[in-house]
Amino acid sequence: KSEKLYCVGCGALLQSKDQGASGYVPAAALKKRDTNKELYCRRCFRLRHYNEVSDVELTDDDFLRVLSQIGETDALVVNVVDVFDFNGSIIPGLQRFVGNNPILMVGNKEDLLPKSLKRSKLRDWLRQEANKMGLRPVAVSLVSAKKSYALDDLMQTIEKYRHGRDVYVVGVTNVGKSTLINQIIKQQLGVSELITTSRFPGTTLDKIEIPLDDDRFMIDTPGIIHSQQMAHYLSAEDLAIVSPQKEVKPRVYQLDAGQTIFLGALARFDYLAGKKTGIVVYADNNLMLHRTKTENAEAFYDRHAGELLQPPSGEKAAELPSLERFEFKASQKSDLVFAGLGWITVPAEVAVAGWAPKGVGLSIRRTMI
Ligand code: GDP
Repeated sequence: KSEKLYCVGCGALLQSKDQGASGYVPAAALKKRDTNKELYCRRCFRLRHYNEVSDVELTDDDFLRVLSQIGETDALVVNVVDVFDFNGSIIPGLQRFVGNNPILMVGNKEDLLPKSLKRSKLRDWLRQEANKMGLRPVAVSLVSAKKSYALDDLMQTIEKYRHGRDVYVVGVTNVGKSTLINQIIKQQLGVSELITTSRFPGTTLDKIEIPLDDDRFMIDTPGIIHSQQMAHYLSAEDLAIVSPQKEVKPRVYQLDAGQTIFLGALARFDYLAGKKTGIVVYADNNLMLHRTKTENAEAFYDRHAGELLQPPSGEKAAELPSLERFEFKASQKSDLVFAGLGWITVPAEVAVAGWAPKGVGLSIRRTMI
């Protein structure tokens, strides 16, 4: 019978199965363990040894507890979103939970969007889409955590809106929250000062508090899982293939009605009705796109998924939930969004269908670019 072990840092039950969940410790480290030594989970270990923050995923219960605790304090809430996966970044009910606390929306990964897209226009777009989702941010900032772009501006904006209060940083997993926090620590605040403090009451989760100038703190909260993200259906390898690393180059197709485009084996787009028209695909530059006739598309997919059509490759294609179809017709130029994968811009008044693995978000929105 295996004994239960707990992290001496955060108190989480230690486990070696899920790297993203709390209490993760590599199996080898557990095995090697000197019985007299206290064990840290990987997150606390990294924090202690490298002053480096990494994200853990949060269960729904813990998530609600953390959010309602933020609602009870007087603070500025910084909500980090991924501009390339805006729909997949939204935390349902955030505005309600944070109560009267102002929200600053930070659009991260701006480096992925075409340079030709005016940043003021992008900020307006983010604000309007946020409003549609029930969020009323007091301001919208655009940054690239990875490229260290506009971090000084962000810190100034935070100062402008926090009015001497604490700052809570929230975000779903994969938006780049840890990268952003680590950059802020490195550039603005000095690594030596990073501290872990008490847990959020009722959870096993530590708060990571970064001191600000006035005895206040910037508090990093654990990443929240967004169930509709493509990330949950892909292996780490395939996820790396579909997550863009560089500025995404739009790919334009002239389509006739009755033509289909496959995005690897992960998604499919059908042009159903209308005259010959241009559509634009925004996805990782290396994601393979394949055009075929709609009438043959289903048979084509069955024959080629995992080989000619990938990712996912080989056997993993068979494990992917089957593609579900949704039809759209918009009165204005719109983006058909495959959560986490990208989007296809279609002109007004054409009938199209999108297909995505069952459970992956598929939606239509006012065009971003
Ligand atoms: P977290 O789960 O929100 O903490 O996200 P991470 O910080 O672990 O980042 C998730 C992924 O997004 C990683 O592959 C990062 O390299 C990538 N990433 C983070 N920030 C940026 C950015 O500003 N631009 C780009 N292109 N990628 C980023």
